Amino acid sequence: MKPLSYTQIALYQSCPLCYKLQYIDGLEPKDKWYFSFGSTMHLCAEYFFKIRVPPPPSLDELLEFYEQNWLSAGYESAEEEAKYKAYGREILSRFWEIHSADFRMPIAVERIFYIDIDGVKLRGFIDRVDKLDSGGLSIVDYKTNKELFTTDYLEKDLQLTLYQLAAEQTWHIPVERLTLYHLRSNTPCSCEPRNEAQLDEARHLALEVANGIAQERFPAIENDYCPCDFAEHCPYYRQKYVEIVAEPKETDILRGMTIDEAVEGFVSLQNQIKQLQLQLDEIKQMVTDFCQAEGLNRVYGKEHAITYKLVERAGFSEDEVRALLEPEGLWNRVLSFDQSRLKQLLTDEETAKGIRDKLEGLKRVISTYPRLSVRRLIEEE
Ligand code: SF4
Repeated sequence: MKPLSYTQIALYQSCPLCYKLQYIDGLEPKDKWYFSFGSTMHLCAEYFFKIRVPPPPSLDELLEFYEQNWLSAGYESAEEEAKYKAYGREILSRFWEIHSADFRMPIAVERIFYIDIDGVKLRGFIDRVDKLDSGGLSIVDYKTNKELFTTDYLEKDLQLTLYQLAAEQTWHIPVERLTLYHLRSNTPCSCEPRNEAQLDEARHLALEVANGIAQERFPAIENDYCPCDFAEHCPYYRQKYVEIVAEPKETDILRGMTIDEAVEGFVSLQNQIKQLQLQLDEIKQMVTDFCQAEGLNRVYGKEHAITYKLVERAGFSEDEVRALLEPEGLWNRVLSFDQSRLKQLLTDEETAKGIRDKLEGLKRVISTYPRLSVRRLIEEE
């Protein structure tokens, strides 16, 4: 297997099918302005810091480099592109002011790394690594996201965790600070390094993803970014895209209906059932109240009668039954395997992690059943 990058791991986690379409089938995602903008800004930050000896480039040199390396792909109009180009100049001017005032040579810029986790190779580029006064390492990754990063986001960010693993393997020096540098506001958002348990969790996750890929597990998983650029290949969206091009067709399976008639018919019947159920519940309550108020066990209509009866549900107390059966050696005969208790055990921190991991490894698909869920398209659009 080729080395995995953080981007690939993250994509597989959000939708394995999308990962397959892009990285195994080789489909090309569409150009997006924010990728172009992010790449240009990354290149400029790299240009500023990747020097043999100080001083760093002047502001004019930096802005000239920016002009020469501007990527135009993905912008919707010339106006939009011009707006972002001006915005990028502003960001870089401020970036230059801040970092030329207290310039320190990093120990690495745009450094490629390869690491091995139990035979799985990971590969990536770290934007910048600085050496702190304490002697430890500080990892910086530039981001052009809109919003600033919250502490919670920083503490869970998988990319920073993998970069810490890579830096400690490469330099054999502990990482003491992890930073996502928010370029739009020129704000370094930093957090403490990961502890051994968090590093282990990231290793485990990388192995899980590699395992899923090796076993060719590529289900489509809907997420916040749907529909992606490959929607016509996705079981959630394909029918919508294909039907736009071709007329809806009747098939034997649908017994003379088109699929859109079947969908609308399903939803309409489901709604009628819900309404009827509400009415039924209401009348049931009225009849029950009437019988209780009048002390009646049966009430009559013209053609039907309804009998009212308070039904008792009998059961056993677990403690009492156990106290009786256990001494007789019969307790095991009434116990059975309980899936919901097993799920509780899996999330219980007090259960040893090794046991929980082994239990997770035993998880299999033991049955399947069809489920139809309804979504309102008009409101969404
Ligand atoms: S549209 Fe969504 S679910 Fe379908 S392949 Fe793309 S990301 Fe996955």
